[in-house]
Amino acid sequence: MKFRTTRWAAVSAAALLALAACGDAGSDSSDESGEYDVADSPDFEEGSRMAELAEQGSIKIGVKYDQPGIGFRGAGQDEPTGIDPELGKIIAGQLGIEPADIEWVETISDNREPFLQNGTVDLVIASYSITDERREIVGQAGPYYVTGQSLLVAADDDSINGPEDLDGKTVCSVRGSTSIDTVEQEYGAEPAGFDTYSECNDQLLNGSVDAVTTDGAILLGYAAENPDELKVVGEPFSEERYGVGYSPDAPEMCQFLTDTIQDAFDDGDFETAFDLTLGKSGNEVPEAPELDACES
Ligand code: GLU
Repeated sequence: MKFRTTRWAAVSAAALLALAACGDAGSDSSDESGEYDVADSPDFEEGSRMAELAEQGSIKIGVKYDQPGIGFRGAGQDEPTGIDPELGKIIAGQLGIEPADIEWVETISDNREPFLQNGTVDLVIASYSITDERREIVGQAGPYYVTGQSLLVAADDDSINGPEDLDGKTVCSVRGSTSIDTVEQEYGAEPAGFDTYSECNDQLLNGSVDAVTTDGAILLGYAAENPDELKVVGEPFSEERYGVGYSPDAPEMCQFLTDTIQDAFDDGDFETAFDLTLGKSGNEVPEAPELDACES
C-alpha cells in the first residue's frame, strides 16, 4: 500500500555536521537519516485515526533518547536518531506527514502504555516488545525486529558468561521492561531498577552493579561506545519482538501499520533504515520477521 509520493531530502543537517566534525560514521551522534516516501494526499476511511492524522498533518511519536542505534538524542542534537525514529519517518510518510512535522517525545520503558492510553503520543516506537499483557491494554503492530535479552559486563569480568551465572549478582535493568522481570524471576539475580538503560550503563562503568541486562541490540550500542571497558556475553536468552504501539482507542491503526511495515520490508526502506542505524553497531541486517495478523 504505497501512495503517490514525493521523495524527502536525504541526510539530516545534524548528521552532516557530525560527520564533517569527526569523520566517524559509526558514532551515534552521526547516525544519518534515510530518504523515505511521503504520500501525496493519502486516502483513508473517514473518521479513522489515520484520516485524522493525515488531515492534521502532524504526529507525536514516542521514542527512546538513550539507546544508540535504536533511539538516541545526544546533547546538541535536534532530532533523535536510530532505527525506531527511522521507522517513525517511514510510517509518518505513509500518512502524508513530512519528517519535519513529526513531534518526537521521549519515552522511557515505564511510561509507554500510559503515554498511549492518555494520548501523550500517537505511536510508541521504542524497543517495545510485543507481549500479551501489553496487548491487553494498548495496540501493538509488528514485529518489525526480533532480538533477545543478553548481558553486558565489565570487559575484564570472567565470572559472568550467561544468565545461569547471575544468581546473587546485582543486575541493573529498567523498571517496566520485560528484561528486569526475566532476570529476577527466572535467574535469581538481585535486580537494580532504574528509569533508563543509560543509568544502568553508568552503574556498570562505575562498578556499582555486576551486569546490565536487556535486549542484545541495545547492549551492543553501549558496548560499541565503550569497547575497552564493556562486553556483551553469552547467547540471547529471551525473544523480544519489537512492535509499534498505538492507542487502544484506534484499532484500525493495526492494519495500516502492519501494511506499512510489510511494504518497508519489501521495498528496501527498512533495510536502508537498519544500515544507517543499528547496522553500525555490529547487528546483522535481519531476515524480515513474519508480521502478526490484526484481529478483525
Ligand atoms: N524490549 C524490552 C521491553 O520492551 C526491553 C527494552 C526496553 O525496556 O525498551 O521491555
